[in-house]
Amino acid sequence: MSLVTPSPEIIAKAAAILRDGGLVAFPTETVYGLGGDATNNVSVERIYAAKGRPSLNPLIVHVGERAWVNNIAHTDARFEKLAAAFWPGPLTLVLLRRADCTISKIVSAGLNSVAVRMPDHAVAHDLLLATGRPLAAPSANRSGFMSPTDAAHVMSSLDVSPELIIDGGKCRVGVESTVLDLTQSTAAILRPGSVTREQIEAIIGPVTVGADDPEAPKAPGQLASHYAPGLSVRLNASEARPGEALIGFGPVAGVLNLSKTGDLAEAAANLFAILRQADNATLYKSIAVAPIPEQGIGLAINDRLRRAAAPRNTAV
Ligand code: AMP
Ligand code: MG
Repeated sequence: MSLVTPSPEIIAKAAAILRDGGLVAFPTETVYGLGGDATNNVSVERIYAAKGRPSLNPLIVHVGERAWVNNIAHTDARFEKLAAAFWPGPLTLVLLRRADCTISKIVSAGLNSVAVRMPDHAVAHDLLLATGRPLAAPSANRSGFMSPTDAAHVMSSLDVSPELIIDGGKCRVGVESTVLDLTQSTAAILRPGSVTREQIEAIIGPVTVGADDPEAPKAPGQLASHYAPGLSVRLNASEARPGEALIGFGPVAGVLNLSKTGDLAEAAANLFAILRQADNATLYKSIAVAPIPEQGIGLAINDRLRRAAAPRNTAV
């Protein structure tokens, strides 16, 4: 495994690895992905193994062009409108698989649906086009733990390393994509992200916020415990208790801070890196986090924080 800076030669090398069934970690605007050829069962099985990911948690398929979706899934007017409005970008759309879909069935974890998105990052885009195949790419971390938002995080996040890690610097958004299920007549948000409910409703009208059975999640982000650091996490804290690393926001200063000016986009971009910094058992006994407003991308931040704070015995 090696950590490399992107160049046309590196993209070509990475594409060759991917076409051969290998894995490559690459940056997207949300978090780093652990990519493999989505049409190759061996590659997809390698992704699940490297993450220690339960086989019932489906993967997101990344496409380089919107037209690639036509060979993968059934699309409708809602898909066309949302893709036109938000792609490339951090919105994943869950669609029904076509009968002749060449995406590995393991990607869909036994469901008749498939999740697709077009990432808004030059490296991801170039890699997809150079590979010429859709890439399955979950976050490049061990299942249940914090997502990597820079290349160094990837190095320390996986038991089995990918053949190549492309270093694209810090991810701009910092939380995973919004996942929207379009397989039913009423669209449902399965995972909040930086594309908000209001933005989606402005394009396709009312949507629901999915509260599926937590024991049989459609989305692994829905597992009660996920995105978890090693130390325990206490939420809505205004001051540190003895031994706690207080992560501040806005008026709550803290020993670390998500955004001193109370900027939610900045807080999202910093979230996982700061949780990793706080997750230091030599310095602290546990982690506390200041209140984050439940608005805009704040919903996604709070969703990740609640799961980081959830009891660990519910993790799979
Ligand atoms: P991750 O790859 O861990 O960042 O997360 C992938 C997200 O996409 C999870 O929330 C998945 O459950 C969701 N997802 C992928 N495929 C599907 C699908 N077919 N149906 C519902 N959710 C899906
Ligand atoms: Mg993940």
